[in-house]
Amino acid sequence: MKTIGLLGGMSWVSTVSYYRIINETVNAELGGLHSAKILLASVDFHDIEVLQHAGRWDEAGHALGDAAAVLESAGAELLVLCTNTMHKVAEEIASRIRIPLLHIADATAAEISAAGLSSIGLLGTRFTMEEPFYKERLSERDAIEVIVPSAEERTLVHRVIYEELCQGDVLPESRVAFQEIARNLAQRGAGGIILGCTEIGLLLDTGDVDVPLFDTARIHAETAARQSLPGRAIDL
Ligand code: GLU
Repeated sequence: MKTIGLLGGMSWVSTVSYYRIINETVNAELGGLHSAKILLASVDFHDIEVLQHAGRWDEAGHALGDAAAVLESAGAELLVLCTNTMHKVAEEIASRIRIPLLHIADATAAEISAAGLSSIGLLGTRFTMEEPFYKERLSERDAIEVIVPSAEERTLVHRVIYEELCQGDVLPESRVAFQEIARNLAQRGAGGIILGCTEIGLLLDTGDVDVPLFDTARIHAETAARQSLPGRAIDL
């Protein structure tokens, strides 16, 4: 079994989900007392968030590259960056290590394509919904058409992520708002919805919308677990 390096803390709330899901997946595959081999580097999200909103992505990429290098030197054999948004600097991080970085959009695209969908709604931070780094990865890799919420809806989704979900607050009124936004995306032709922020799975669940939900935290964590096990790796 390979040792997985988790680069987390963005936020710590979803890093908890990664730890649980990776262990559950490894245990489901191997049974008994088997659990995953994991190293965790968890950053102070305050520092990263300041750099994000100041547009200082190079510095953020550098800090995460440092943390990735620490994980590699400690023995990690596979890097998992536990956030969609910071994949904006995935190339910078990958350039600092020799072990593979398991890209969250690749794992998600593989599951969407396996479900036979070619048009998908995307919920995430403003950076993930509006900038090309994530949407282009999906469309170039698997020809998936991405539909994003309206400007007003994007403002609400972004605010809820930073002011509530990343602080561990799961509020019923925000659940109702997210359900409405997801339904609007489905009405505009989305055959499914990407929960493209690793905390949104705490708010939306299967059954909240009539189309399938693709929870990136679950997909990324399950894929990482499989990649760590001999003979179970998924072709990405
Ligand atoms: N965890 C979130 C994501 O998946 C947002 C936090 C961040 O900006 O990294 O994008």
